[in-house]
Amino acid sequence: ITRVGVFTSGGDSPGMNAAIRAVVRTALYKDKKVTGIYHGYQGMIDNTMFDMDSQSVSSIIQMGGTVLKTARCMEFKTTEGRAKAYEHVRTAGIDALVAIGGDGTFTGAEIFSREFNIPVMCIPGTIDNDLNGTDLTIGYDTANNTVIEAIDKIRDTAASHNRLFFIEVMGRDSGCIALNAGVAGGAEAILLPERETAIDELIDMLEQAADRKKSSMIVIVAEGDKNGGANNVARCVQEKVGYYDTKVSILGHLQRGGAPSSADRVLATRMGYAAVNELLKGNTRATVGVRGSEIVTTPLEEALSKKELKLNEDLVEIAKIMAL
Ligand code: ADP
Repeated sequence: ITRVGVFTSGGDSPGMNAAIRAVVRTALYKDKKVTGIYHGYQGMIDNTMFDMDSQSVSSIIQMGGTVLKTARCMEFKTTEGRAKAYEHVRTAGIDALVAIGGDGTFTGAEIFSREFNIPVMCIPGTIDNDLNGTDLTIGYDTANNTVIEAIDKIRDTAASHNRLFFIEVMGRDSGCIALNAGVAGGAEAILLPERETAIDELIDMLEQAADRKKSSMIVIVAEGDKNGGANNVARCVQEKVGYYDTKVSILGHLQRGGAPSSADRVLATRMGYAAVNELLKGNTRATVGVRGSEIVTTPLEEALSKKELKLNEDLVEIAKIMAL
């Protein structure tokens, strides 16, 4: 390997820049050259690439988003699109790739690597913490911190008005953010995509909380909750029990932005470093991850096929007890 290509793809997450920086600096340290590819797979097809040096990644560790930009690229899903991408990758002299992104990015990387026999290593970047082969993804900790800050602020106004607030957080398939934020924010109830909570069951929980004369009540609703999101849940509760003063807050994309937390910067730096070293050792078609305090790798085929249950079952129970 003489030149490593690095890119971010799919949804962005805070800490991606720290990962890019670690990839670039580790590769340079190992006397390899580095090419930055803009806009993920789209940039391979459009040939928007540039030579990176140590300076290219100065002062980016603290920045949210991704300096390499990201994109969703339909053309890369076609054989012709990937052939065009490979032609540009080859011409640039890139002989190994580091892909930072989520499930879709991993899928593309796996296919591309097999098709053109080019080594790839993936780094898990998404706030949802829904990837296999790792306990934690880059951006998850920051998103949790952002959500908790928002919940605390909403709690202030909820308490002043004796209101019932429904706060919708990100997570279409994964309740990780909802559960974590619910526990840390002292939510009265948490609705998760992995669990069905009937509206009547939720009302029971709220009545119990009201009996204990709680001055404010907060329900965290994951985006992917089976009742159809916070607006729907609030409407259903309102229809059944009219006396609550209900409000809805959908946190949305602010959860994806902001300066990465210390934990995410360190995780991203360790993963970026490991990704390059693994490639140089001959490891390929895999993703780096963290298990406990260890950095590990998992073949992409395995990471993409099985579904790990990320939800901490104990924490689900603890959350219920804490709300009593
Ligand atoms: P994420 O990586 O966050 O899951 P996407 O699902 O949008 O985001 O995937 C990112 C990109 O990966 C897609 O826009 C596409 O270019 C590429 N990709 C996803 N699935 C495939 C596939 N089956 N074949 C080839 N490329 C894919």
